[in-house]
Amino acid sequence: MTFAELSTYLDRLEGTRSRNELVKTLSELYAKTSPDEIQPVTYLIQGRLVPFFEPVEIGMGEKLVIASIAQAAERPVDEVTRLYNKLGDLGLVAAEVSTKPRGKVPSITDVHARLMAIAAAAGAGSVEKKRTGFASLLHDLDAASAKHLVRMALGRLRLGIGDATVLEALSFAKKGDRSLRPTLEAAYNRTSDLGLIAHTFWTEGEKGIAALKVTVGRPIRPQLAERLPNPEAVIKKLGNVAVQPKYDGIRVQIHKNGANVRIFSRNLEDFSLMFVELVAAARKLADRTLILDGEAIGYNAESEEYLMFQQTASRRRQHGIEEAAASLPLVAFVFDVLYRNGKDLTAMPYSDRYAMLKDVLGDSKVLTPAPLTTTDSAEELTRTLLDNISKGLEGVVVKRMDSPYQAGARNFNWVKLKRTTSGQLNDTVDLVLLGYYFGKGKRTEFGLGALLAGVYDAEHDRFDTITKIGTGLSDAGWREIHARADKLQVKEKPARVRSLLTPDVWLKPEVVVEVLADEITPGTNHTAGKVGDAPGYALRFPRIVSFRGADKRPEDATTVKEIVEMFKQQGKRPVAGQ
Ligand code: ATP
Repeated sequence: MTFAELSTYLDRLEGTRSRNELVKTLSELYAKTSPDEIQPVTYLIQGRLVPFFEPVEIGMGEKLVIASIAQAAERPVDEVTRLYNKLGDLGLVAAEVSTKPRGKVPSITDVHARLMAIAAAAGAGSVEKKRTGFASLLHDLDAASAKHLVRMALGRLRLGIGDATVLEALSFAKKGDRSLRPTLEAAYNRTSDLGLIAHTFWTEGEKGIAALKVTVGRPIRPQLAERLPNPEAVIKKLGNVAVQPKYDGIRVQIHKNGANVRIFSRNLEDFSLMFVELVAAARKLADRTLILDGEAIGYNAESEEYLMFQQTASRRRQHGIEEAAASLPLVAFVFDVLYRNGKDLTAMPYSDRYAMLKDVLGDSKVLTPAPLTTTDSAEELTRTLLDNISKGLEGVVVKRMDSPYQAGARNFNWVKLKRTTSGQLNDTVDLVLLGYYFGKGKRTEFGLGALLAGVYDAEHDRFDTITKIGTGLSDAGWREIHARADKLQVKEKPARVRSLLTPDVWLKPEVVVEVLADEITPGTNHTAGKVGDAPGYALRFPRIVSFRGADKRPEDATTVKEIVEMFKQQGKRPVAGQ
């Protein structure tokens, strides 16, 4: 397939307003794709060259793209810049100045390989190499293709194709229905690589998919925790449980393959560079291959003090990681081992996996087992919870001792219990910003008023609205939101958004904010959990508590299913003594 042909599909996907249409168009594209092409196609439609966890970037900023467009079109840089100021989208600029391609029309695999070469260019002379390489690509492509290529390079391909949509489209392309989505999803939870899944599906079918294994170097989608209102409810539902402190740090999945150590975040990004001391500590462990799951946090063992999440996370923004490692040393409390010396341990009961940790971690001071106690008493669980809170921790995570590690699942194998304030919701929720209204009065200064926010419907892979948020932010906060929202504006409602309201401006679902609300109520204005004519759910008195950083993708926001659960649990007595 030529890249030009792919571009016609990208144009169609861009114009799509409904999620079903998105799946249909995508499956039509897949049905025409050969085994050689399916892997690059799968990455390119999400604006990437490789799976999300591989830190490969095209590495071209606006200035360099402008220079490439100018070179390809043989026009002065100034002219291209002027056109950019007028059109506001470098993709449109590239299309406008594009010259008729003369040579052979490049195939998808050819374009992908050339983009990989551009990404690989590093060191002296790399800027020149990237500029010339990209210009030559633009030169070979037609106008529509140039438009999409530029958007890919700048990370601005606004197709809104989520992972679940890709999996569903693959199922449709092969089977004509969505029946294979669960099988594909299970493989995705083990491998986190959509391109690999697509390629295996095309070459080896369902059998090949079932045989895709947990592997060192490919992150496993993390197991997540459910909520219950209080210790009594936990013991009633789970019986005898393992109890661990809930650290408010950063989730880390540590992969060791000999001296090669990589660390993945909760949303599967490679964070190895940020955690140099964890990498060094993992290298020293005796086992040759390992996958460990834990929480990294700044911790002073002498004073037994933990850093707040914000302080631990500030590392991301610091340039001198080495200096940060010296002034803000991190440890990881490891709570699970998922793979050891070539063996996948995820099916084993948690008690057996936890028992191995001591042996795996040895006397490491940096990688230490998260402490664990067991109990079947609600009083004891309450005491442990309050004890942890008084130590400055977030609460506890309670786990079923006989549970396997269920990649990507949020279920009652793990339950989190946090501090609660009576009369309010037990917990904050993470919402995705979907649009905003122009402000009135003081807010006009910031260019936006109330924000329209939503939750994620994992079953249908779409975003449903749940509230409008007008408060909770400082002036600086509103300015930051405005700056971020500016980059995410889209002309029409994105295909994966379901809304009864029409804000003044739609946003590409990307920014996740942590929100505290007083309660969940039935809401006729919102689509969250709405089926047929029955009302959905809404949040009362929402206010923004914080921005979630890069650790949450929009699909990691609170789900409709969680909202329904939280609604049911509302009003139940919170933790005693709170
Ligand atoms: P939250 O916003 O409450 O942290 P989340 O949506 O990020 O939640 P949850 O599944 O709700 O994730 O809560 C589990 C998270 O708690 C894990 O992702 C992990 O980062 C953190 N955590 C801290 N201590 C533990 C522990 N002992 N066991 C498991 N997870 C832990």
